[in-house]
Amino acid sequence: MKNPLLEIALERVIEAAEHLDLDPGFVERLKQPLETTQARLSILMDDGSTKCFIGWRCRYDDSLGPTKGGIRWDQMVNADEVETLGLLMTLKNALMGLPFGGGKGGVKVDPRGLSNTEQERLGRAYIRAFAAVIGPDRDIPAPDVGTNEKIMAWMMDEYSTIVGKRTPAVITGKPVALGGSRGRDDATARGAYNIMRYKADTLKLEHGTRVAIQGFGNAGKHIAKLLAADGCKINAVSDSKGAVHAPAGLDISKLLAAKRHGSVTSMAGSAGVSEISGDELVSVECDILILAAVENMVHEGNAASIKARVIVELANGPVTPEADEILEAMNVEIIPDILVNAGGVTVSYLEWVQNRQGERWTLEQVHAWLKTKMESEADAVLAYARDKNITLRTAAYVLALSRIAAAMEALGTDK
Ligand code: GLU
Repeated sequence: MKNPLLEIALERVIEAAEHLDLDPGFVERLKQPLETTQARLSILMDDGSTKCFIGWRCRYDDSLGPTKGGIRWDQMVNADEVETLGLLMTLKNALMGLPFGGGKGGVKVDPRGLSNTEQERLGRAYIRAFAAVIGPDRDIPAPDVGTNEKIMAWMMDEYSTIVGKRTPAVITGKPVALGGSRGRDDATARGAYNIMRYKADTLKLEHGTRVAIQGFGNAGKHIAKLLAADGCKINAVSDSKGAVHAPAGLDISKLLAAKRHGSVTSMAGSAGVSEISGDELVSVECDILILAAVENMVHEGNAASIKARVIVELANGPVTPEADEILEAMNVEIIPDILVNAGGVTVSYLEWVQNRQGERWTLEQVHAWLKTKMESEADAVLAYARDKNITLRTAAYVLALSRIAAAMEALGTDK
């Protein structure tokens, strides 16, 4: 079956593979997921009616270990998207040197339309449907767009009931009270922040640097806080309802309060703040553009309008391959998703380790481990890119692929 989204993502894998002397069989295996399971999830709504949702779990590749990746709850999710994101997780986990393959899950639902109890029933129904697919040594879900620690808690509990023993390591991103890791909530943003700070000289990240942020969910919100605390000027922010622009910089605490009450757009009208459309955000005057929403937001049609000199891909797959070419010609540096947003899954790994060992790490331990990891992988990608004169994305893909290929080689050809 054709998956056009996956085909596009695979173009980058095939291009990266050309830099390595790989057994063609390895790339062949990566062209399709190991397994994708689909299920009907029927839940009782608060009004007594029954509603059915459709859910997926994809285990994309397990050469490096049990598959790992988040679960997305979004009205637009489909099997093609889940599989494509599963490939990206496979590359991300490999690049970070984690002992995981890649996977992803999804439910086609707008979680904002569900009550708390309906969300709980849907989370538990998801686990009942996929209990045979997941497991601490098989496939380990986590949060993604539209899901959160509360949902991870219900999911962990449902799985534990099914297998008859408390199994915290089956899922990461849980509340700290239930074995979640300290530092997991802002880990995606903090990992990106670690790299940005580490490379502050080359990125010209200093007091007053203008930063525009697309998307104000978990990742966007936390990166805004971290950079504003450092004196950066957050001059434009968008969410699903629209965007606001303030050349002199937005007040972060007011922005967070606006979001808590619905949308950043309610900031519009305060002194110096104007409302712009969500589409306009990518082309505002800024030094660094942080893409923290969803896939394919920068494409052939808007790439040329970008004014930033650096793009940070906090979302998965926010820039299309066509836009990559346009931006490369414009000398815009892209810090690629599989490197710069890997802080989330990296702290998920630490959560899994703590759960398996019955340990609780301090926040300082988690922060120190994450920082070291992000800096050393960034160094590897930057050095490789410089050495071969290729983009950071291609370098990241080549390093990830070489790790997956080494595992495939060791596993043999009869796998
Ligand atoms: N959903 C996050 C990502 O796309 C985290 C996955 C995880 O922690 O397993 O990287």
